[in-house]
Amino acid sequence: MTERIFSEGETVAVLTTEPLGPFLDYRAPGGGCGTGDFVEVPLGPRRVLGVVWGPGEGGFDPARLRSIARVLDVPPMRAELRTFLSRAADYTMTWLPAMLRLATRSPGLFDPPALRRVLRLSGPVPNRLTEARLKVIEALRSFGAAPVTPGELSTAAGVSASVVRGLVKLGVIAEEEAPRDLPYPRLNARAPARLEGDQVEAGAALAQAVAAENFQAVLLKGVTGSGKTEVYLEAVAEALRRNRQALVLLPEIALTADFLARVEARFGARPGEWHSGVTQTERRRLWKMAAEGEVGLVVGARSALFLPFQDLGLIVVDEEHDTSYKQEDGVLYNARDMAVLRGSILGCPVVLASATPSLESWVNADQGRYARLDLTTRYGAAEMPAMRAIDMRAEKLPSDRWISETLAKGVEDRIRAGEQSLLFLNRRGYAPVTLCRACGQQIGCDDCDARMVEHRFLKRLVCHQCGATKPVPQSCPSCGVEGRMAAVGPGVERLAEEVTARFPEARLAVLSSDLFGSARALKEQIAAIAEGAADIIIGTQIVAKGHNFPLLKLVGVIDADLGLQGSDLRAAERTFQLMRQVAGRAGRAGAPGEAWLQTHQPEHPVIRAILGGDEEAFWKAEAEERRAAGAPPFGRMAGIILSGPDLQPLFDYGGELARADAPLRRIGAEVFGPAPAPVARVRGRHRVRLLVKAPKAAPLQAALAHWIGQVKQPKGMRLAIDIDPQSF
Ligand code: ADP
Ligand code: ZN
Repeated sequence: MTERIFSEGETVAVLTTEPLGPFLDYRAPGGGCGTGDFVEVPLGPRRVLGVVWGPGEGGFDPARLRSIARVLDVPPMRAELRTFLSRAADYTMTWLPAMLRLATRSPGLFDPPALRRVLRLSGPVPNRLTEARLKVIEALRSFGAAPVTPGELSTAAGVSASVVRGLVKLGVIAEEEAPRDLPYPRLNARAPARLEGDQVEAGAALAQAVAAENFQAVLLKGVTGSGKTEVYLEAVAEALRRNRQALVLLPEIALTADFLARVEARFGARPGEWHSGVTQTERRRLWKMAAEGEVGLVVGARSALFLPFQDLGLIVVDEEHDTSYKQEDGVLYNARDMAVLRGSILGCPVVLASATPSLESWVNADQGRYARLDLTTRYGAAEMPAMRAIDMRAEKLPSDRWISETLAKGVEDRIRAGEQSLLFLNRRGYAPVTLCRACGQQIGCDDCDARMVEHRFLKRLVCHQCGATKPVPQSCPSCGVEGRMAAVGPGVERLAEEVTARFPEARLAVLSSDLFGSARALKEQIAAIAEGAADIIIGTQIVAKGHNFPLLKLVGVIDADLGLQGSDLRAAERTFQLMRQVAGRAGRAGAPGEAWLQTHQPEHPVIRAILGGDEEAFWKAEAEERRAAGAPPFGRMAGIILSGPDLQPLFDYGGELARADAPLRRIGAEVFGPAPAPVARVRGRHRVRLLVKAPKAAPLQAALAHWIGQVKQPKGMRLAIDIDPQSF
């Protein structure tokens, strides 16, 4: 895909975001256009956004083709990004227009820049000015050439807006209009690295990978607190020194002020930010500045991967094992894998960082496809927490209590020492099950195949699948008996009751995503905890990710067995990752902490591995199990999810597909199902899944397309293809 210029009237293929194409032919407008240009094209009575992709198909009478309406005044999409979109579309079996939508869906990206009022010194400064006015002049001078708004200026000077207005009236300061799209401040990458121990070597290796300007995937593995961030920031510094751009992807939830502050401390300015909390104006600015090379470092959630960088020299995927990198609706893609794809197209290194890598990345490193760097010690002589199991069979707790005597004693000791304890339970709400003691009926969601979870905080039952709520019934909806509805099992709210009863004096904080109205409220709570505002923290998995609580010394896992049930082949991997991440919260700075796991099966191999058995041996054993099953990453998987209002037609069609499996057998693939999907009903739509398992090197996508294409799909049914599903 080399750049090409088309002169007026030539036929060009335009990719739009509409599902009509993928490509539609148009005539180049007056003044011509080039490949990659963002354009507006007429489509029926509307005008839609598109990208010039190349020469048209021809075959039409050019006189009857419509012309491109307008070439937009934004940087053209580079060949690299066009290649990435089409390869990603091929891989995920996504219709290319949907892929373009993903890259351009943020509203307002193509609007003309809004203007804003900015100030500059204009007239001579009269020598008799009030103190307040002098402060304003001084502040304005300190901004140098950077434009500053009246509001920013009065804030910087610490005076009221009227003082600034007064100076404008006097003619000392002039107001003018300037576009909003300001370049980001340059990051200063010259400050020397402050790495030590095995960080030095790892930092040098990453910097060298950046300097080589070649594609290479590197797994950066190191326990929490070992300095992975510190190390990959050195790779970022190397990219910046070469005047290239860098992208750091973080799971949305880990995009904390903490990280931004660290970048600022290291490089003297903040990076560009791209995630759901960023305003439309700011997104527009970042999108444009990325394309113009006017932002050096971008920190973002998975969709930042689709930004139009001018010259990207490094991609970092932090917490690479995190399941939130997989987008589970719309275009089904895994941002970690797509990062590797984009890096390979760009020819730049991709760093995958984690304390607990995914099995996929572990195997890729083991087999030599990825380089691997290990950080084995925690920074500043901090040690990994001492781990132990609490055998719940010996504790004999009553059925409505979940904190063992052993754990309670540990928490007590910590409170006495002025230290924090974290009780980890990955269950939101009050109780996971609400049932009738008379007939045994459990309350489920009307629209989903999911139990309703009681949330006392909201005083309602909530479906965690679709968000539907209803009041907790007084009498059983099934048998009508009154007053026998019971909450069964613990959620964090219920655990909080137990903690309050057991430790009435302790200051308690509950961290669960549903208890916070906004991301900001959650951030504030986390900051307060870090400063010691709580003695006991109860948390769901939101505490497992990247937050730093310096006073936290004891982590108690309420139910370490929770993730081990079920038949999912990934259960062991996920449990191992989660438990290790949670344990890593303890004792980060200074003295080592402890992590205690309440379990009914202390002899379970996964529990034993978590407790500090040989980690590499655990991964080897897991890998062997997957290899034996022909499962990823040794084989390939795809899920075919059929959804519709009625169940029977889904099974009928699924059955037909399963029988027509010749194109799959030809590549050595097998099909399983149809079976109810992992979530079998959502929002009133039934979901049925077929799983396809193929040998690693088989041309899976082509075979899938052929296979599905042969069986006519009934109306009213949706089919989604999930390449590399999360659960199997
Ligand atoms: P990880 O990303 O592996 O969890 P971090 O990079 O966040 O580790 O490091 C953990 C803590 O130790 C941070 O507070 C960080 O600032 C500090 N740290 C790590 N390495 C160094 C170093 N070489 N010099 C100074 N502080 C460091
Ligand atoms: Zn529901």
